[in-house]
Amino acid sequence: MRKNIVAGNWKMNTTVPEGVALAKEVNAALKGTKANCDVIICVPFTHLVPVNDVIDNTVLGLGAENCADHASGAYTGEVSAPMVASTGARYVILGHSERRQYYGETSETLREKVALALENGLTPIFCIGEVLEERENGTYNEVVRKQIEEGLFNLCAEGFSKIILAYEPVWAIGTGKTATADQAEDMHAFIRSVIEEKYGKEVAENTSILYGGSCKPSNAKELFAKPDVDGGLIGGASLKCADFMGIVEAFN
Ligand code: PEP
Repeated sequence: MRKNIVAGNWKMNTTVPEGVALAKEVNAALKGTKANCDVIICVPFTHLVPVNDVIDNTVLGLGAENCADHASGAYTGEVSAPMVASTGARYVILGHSERRQYYGETSETLREKVALALENGLTPIFCIGEVLEERENGTYNEVVRKQIEEGLFNLCAEGFSKIILAYEPVWAIGTGKTATADQAEDMHAFIRSVIEEKYGKEVAENTSILYGGSCKPSNAKELFAKPDVDGGLIGGASLKCADFMGIVEAFN
């Protein structure tokens, strides 16, 4: 059966000491409760080693927010999948809309990143989602289908079964405007049907599909109650322990 997951995406926030303090707080909160989902924090590269040192991987998973599309070499400023894996991190966000929009990430680059992440034992949290114009002109299903087909459908079923998907409508990210639970469910069910067409029912049923976009304690329960919504990828609300834990507790 697929897992329920709440994953934080800290983006480019917190200094190392601030990040370590936040990670410690989340770790302690998780130790004091029984979370009914897997909990992950995805942090800036600089934070991976010191955060890994202060968390207990049995209650809190650690991930990066990106990795390079090459394994090593003359790529100044890049951080590779083997480097991320060597910190103790087990997850990596790939294809976040901010990377697609601001850093020109294409499906071609993302295929390389996904392959390198998997080769190095990292679980990709692969993001997909339409922009406002595509929501409004009704092309959102086709946009998301294309992102999945181009970014992931080169994988064999075994490779694909290691992927966590995150549906993040771009118009809902950081805007305070959340997709309704019904909009999220419709899209998640559509995504699962696209996976089923390619890999069959078992793989589709076992794929965790997270919702992301202004998810907060006040709307998480309604979103996560939908049958095809298997948790959330959380930006802003992952930067405050109480808010993040409020979302984790939506599964209780
Ligand atoms: C995100 O960036 O992945 C995200 C979902 O952000 P927010 O929760 O702030 O909308």
